[in-house]
Amino acid sequence: MATWHCVKHCGACCHLDPRDRPDLADYLTPDELTLYLSLVGEDGWCIHFDSTNRECRIYSSRPRFCRVEPDVFQDLYSIEPDELSDFAIDCCQQQIEGVYGDRSLELLRFQREIGDWGTN
Ligand code: SF4
Ligand code: SF4
Repeated sequence: MATWHCVKHCGACCHLDPRDRPDLADYLTPDELTLYLSLVGEDGWCIHFDSTNRECRIYSSRPRFCRVEPDVFQDLYSIEPDELSDFAIDCCQQQIEGVYGDRSLELLRFQREIGDWGTN
């Protein structure tokens, strides 16, 4: 069974272009939405994303909406802790497909590392 974890040097979820996330206002507070939009660079990537190393430059102080944590997902998306892994896997796969493509090495690497070979 696949268990979610973040795969290093991916960064797909740091592509913040709001045109790809039309429902932001449904789950972010007004202040968070303002913060989110302030992070979007001209190329659609977060201004704190180090594109060379594909890492967050402010990881330890990244905003709440960047954190895959039980209390955050329960609050933002009404996801119960025991559903977090499956939900986060779906989120990551969608985001990686959207940013890098559905045949990308990034997607293969994610699926391999979490133990999901695309059988569901
Ligand atoms: S899309 Fe998923 S695996 Fe990739 S950086 Fe974001 S949380 Fe990690
Ligand atoms: S703050 Fe960090 S984790 Fe959040 S989108 Fe920006 S680079 Fe990614």
